[in-house]
Amino acid sequence: MSGTLHLLRPDLRDFTAYHAASPRRGVVRLHANEASWRADWDETDDGLNRYPDPRPEALVHALAALYGVVPGSVLVTRGSDDAIDLLVRAFCVAGEDAVLVTPPTFGMYAVAARLQGAGVVAVPLQRDFSLDTAGVLAATRAHVKLVFLCSPNNPTGSLVSPRAVDTLCRELHGRAVVVVDEAYVEFSRHPGFADRLARYPNLVLLRTLSKAWGLAGARVGTLLAEPELVAVLRALAPPYPLPSLATEAALRRLQPAELAATRRRTAAVVRRREALAEALQALPAVRRAWPSEGNFLLVRFADAAAAMAACEAAGVLVRDFSRQPGLSGCLRITVGTAAENRKLLRALARLEGKMVNARG
Ligand SMILES: *Cc1c(COP(=O)(O)O)cnc(C)c1O
Repeated sequence: MSGTLHLLRPDLRDFTAYHAASPRRGVVRLHANEASWRADWDETDDGLNRYPDPRPEALVHALAALYGVVPGSVLVTRGSDDAIDLLVRAFCVAGEDAVLVTPPTFGMYAVAARLQGAGVVAVPLQRDFSLDTAGVLAATRAHVKLVFLCSPNNPTGSLVSPRAVDTLCRELHGRAVVVVDEAYVEFSRHPGFADRLARYPNLVLLRTLSKAWGLAGARVGTLLAEPELVAVLRALAPPYPLPSLATEAALRRLQPAELAATRRRTAAVVRRREALAEALQALPAVRRAWPSEGNFLLVRFADAAAAMAACEAAGVLVRDFSRQPGLSGCLRITVGTAAENRKLLRALARLEGKMVNARG
């Protein structure tokens, strides 16, 4: 047994998966209580009257190729949120176990833990938003089953260093699973940690088509891990992970021509991110725009409430993080189109004028 499977909830060890209906087509399907007719507007390949393939092979192979891993390392999920929930349910006994998070970070890790009745141990990032590796190690006691890292981190845009990931995987081998959420890695200079999956049986990576691939509405996430763990998690996951509409959309999105277009778009987002950071930094209302490896910027304002109000008045939504520990005055701003970014900057420039007048 790998150094990881014994960390699963003991009551799930002999879990019997739900037996999904065979996806075979071209035969008379009288085994799944499906409707025998399809709607006349239904343009899907297989028909929405049919249950989807429980393990859509074409998509699994496309994702394995995209992420540079073997197909056995791929578990398709309904967005990363679903993968986070599955991990917490698989590893944490309610009322006993806990997950470790490194705030400020993505909120879903703690939400999934609370839903499962698992504890949440927090080891804050350091002032420069780098990981407190020693602190994480010290806080990972027996009841901590999952260590959630996010790289690039939402909302700070910072990376977890390869050294930190190596140290944690090595030191926590047999004790805890290290989960690295790479939702934004396509926007980063760092290639991510897929090359380490073969080395560390306690490493799990989360990828998604929601951000750089522009499919947030289709809900397609991928959990990457060593094949033995993926097989166990697949048995615990819902029998039909993706609606057939989502699978078809993802397969279209991953066609070779679309891959090239996506890489171009991602590079353009990165260029606009750098330009937006510079423009924001030049506004007197902005105290700091942190460097970011994602498709967003964390920005500290002299007056975050006023900045929020100015954006709201201009019909621009941004996310308020100013009440989170260590993020006073901070808003998270997604990099938009050039026109959207100009609209944002105009709104914030107006705010500046008012403040100068008020003072003067
Ligand atoms: C947006 C985001 C995700 C993506 O979640 P999906 O469920 O795949 O849409 C995952 N992790 C982080 C940190 C995110 O910000």
